[in-house]
Amino acid sequence: MTAGRMRLSDLPIRNDLRGRSPYGAPQIDAPVLLNTNENPYPPSEGLVADLAEAVRRDAATLNRYPDREVVALREDLADYLGHGLTAERVWAANGSNEVLQQILQAFGGPGRSAMGFEPSYSMHPIITTGAATRWISGAREDDFGLDPGKAVAAIEEHRPDIVFLTSPNNPTGTALPLEAIQWVVEAAPGMVVVDEAYFEFARTGTPSALTLLEDNPRLIVTRTMSKAFAMAGTRLGYLAADPAVIEALLLVRLPYHLSTLTQAAARVAVAHRGELLGTVDRLRAERDACVARLRGQGLSVADSDANFVLFGRFGDRRAVWEGLLEHGVLIREVGPPEWLRVSIGTADEMATFHQALTAVLPTAD
Ligand code: PMP
Repeated sequence: MTAGRMRLSDLPIRNDLRGRSPYGAPQIDAPVLLNTNENPYPPSEGLVADLAEAVRRDAATLNRYPDREVVALREDLADYLGHGLTAERVWAANGSNEVLQQILQAFGGPGRSAMGFEPSYSMHPIITTGAATRWISGAREDDFGLDPGKAVAAIEEHRPDIVFLTSPNNPTGTALPLEAIQWVVEAAPGMVVVDEAYFEFARTGTPSALTLLEDNPRLIVTRTMSKAFAMAGTRLGYLAADPAVIEALLLVRLPYHLSTLTQAAARVAVAHRGELLGTVDRLRAERDACVARLRGQGLSVADSDANFVLFGRFGDRRAVWEGLLEHGVLIREVGPPEWLRVSIGTADEMATFHQALTAVLPTAD
């Protein structure tokens, strides 16, 4: 008997997942990839050699499980973060997405809710609903900033168990002032997660929410090696929080979640942080030049403290996105309907992007 092809909707999937879409940044092999906010600079030969050596050394132990508590890497990350942090206040997982998922598993769940201020990172609601937690969408202002008074009012109205603040925000690039974060932390009845995936790209002088950790045990600050550290392929995200928060995460994390090879590669990356973070200044300069150039073309451009720029406004953004792709440049169709996001690449890649955009926009320049 031949059965017909099974469709997703035929499966006894959880009702709250029916009709949902997975995370979907297209993986298209275009010559210029400016779509997922990666760092365009690959590891140097010296770093590759050190990574290979660390993997060679630890390969001899792969019959054993990894260090379940990730102690050495957590010490390295605490040292990198500064702010007097120690390993007991730092936790790591496979990308900050997994860190966020563990937070939802520990502090969300059926009957609970999480709130974010949109437009923001699309995975926050996806991870939230995946953890059977209700998503509450708060609003940002027209300039994509947050009005702290309105944010506090929304939190008091909905009383979410978890509040997400993303600073600098994806896809808009907007950084939040520390006072706004402080207001939210004081108003929130539960946990507050400040997602600082792009923190290293912020304009100088922007303070990190890490400075608020000492007095706020319900605050969690998440970071990643995928962006400024140029290690997206390693899949390493981390957080800083009160030691009790990390105790809570140990209840839900899978044993041995972070492989020996991931831990080894991440430790090498932290050791090479001078070189890796050395690209940040160049990317910031390219970003500022990109903002100025797009504004010079008469486009609307959001202020950016990240390694990407949100620009618009296009009646048919899909046509612009497709036009760029025809010129070999892949950017991201994300955010509010009339806007597009371009990740910052090398000087050559940005030149190609600007040429392509000028060709695609007939009235530009
Ligand atoms: N937070 C934000 C705001 C992001 O934009 C991203 C990646 N696009 C992540 C978290 C997840 O990064 P990763 O899992 O690679 O650490």
